[in-house]
Amino acid sequence: ASFKDAGLHPAMLRNVELAGYSVPTPIQRYCLPAIHLGYDVIGIAQTGSGKTAAFLIPILNKLMGKAKKWAAPRPNPATFQEGIDRELRAEPLVVIVSPNRELAVQIFNEARKFCYRTMLRPCVVYGGNSTKKEQRTQLQKGCDVLIGTPGRLVDFLDDPSILTLRRVRYMVIDEADELLNQDWKEQLDKIMCGGEQEEGHIKYMLFSATFPKQARDLAKTHLAETHVRLR
Ligand code: AMP
Repeated sequence: ASFKDAGLHPAMLRNVELAGYSVPTPIQRYCLPAIHLGYDVIGIAQTGSGKTAAFLIPILNKLMGKAKKWAAPRPNPATFQEGIDRELRAEPLVVIVSPNRELAVQIFNEARKFCYRTMLRPCVVYGGNSTKKEQRTQLQKGCDVLIGTPGRLVDFLDDPSILTLRRVRYMVIDEADELLNQDWKEQLDKIMCGGEQEEGHIKYMLFSATFPKQARDLAKTHLAETHVRLR
């Protein structure tokens, strides 16, 4: 009934407490164990339900146990020069897709709270010409948790020297109904396929306020047969 009893990594428990969360919301109570056990998850949840923390806490908690082994190498800040450290492409462990910039930034801010004083580094990318160069620089500085809008994600993915999905372990599609309404199906398929995986396979979390046929089809295509559906 409390985050204290959820068996969280000490760094995660500290960050949850710093965020001021003591009691999990219903969607969090369902999601924590389901994601911890390795299920793909479909969550039918509205904004305000605590759905962001419902996927961030268990995913990041899982990664914290493996951060030393998995986290991206960091460039030396003293010698980092934009565009020169070419080998520093982003190979995130988590990708979260959001239908718009506002939600993406909101998820990013929540991710920053939970990644505080860990080896995990979040980044956010979204459309707009003036922001692209700075986002690329952020990616080059190391990115373990990537939050983005589908257009910009695919844009970066088209250049594998910037971003690849070969190390992704967890993928979250947030507001799937909204993404599909906006006609991002093709981009979602491309992102969710993940390309050639280095090892292991991707676990998928699909969140949606409603669950129309298009969203069911997306789940059918990409999620494991044994997913759990939470409401
Ligand atoms: P969301 O549904 O993810 O947009 O979250 C709605 C709001 O609830 C956000 O401001 C969160 O910071 C907050 N929140 C999420 N989980 C909890 C919790 N367990 N206890 C208190 N506040 C929470």
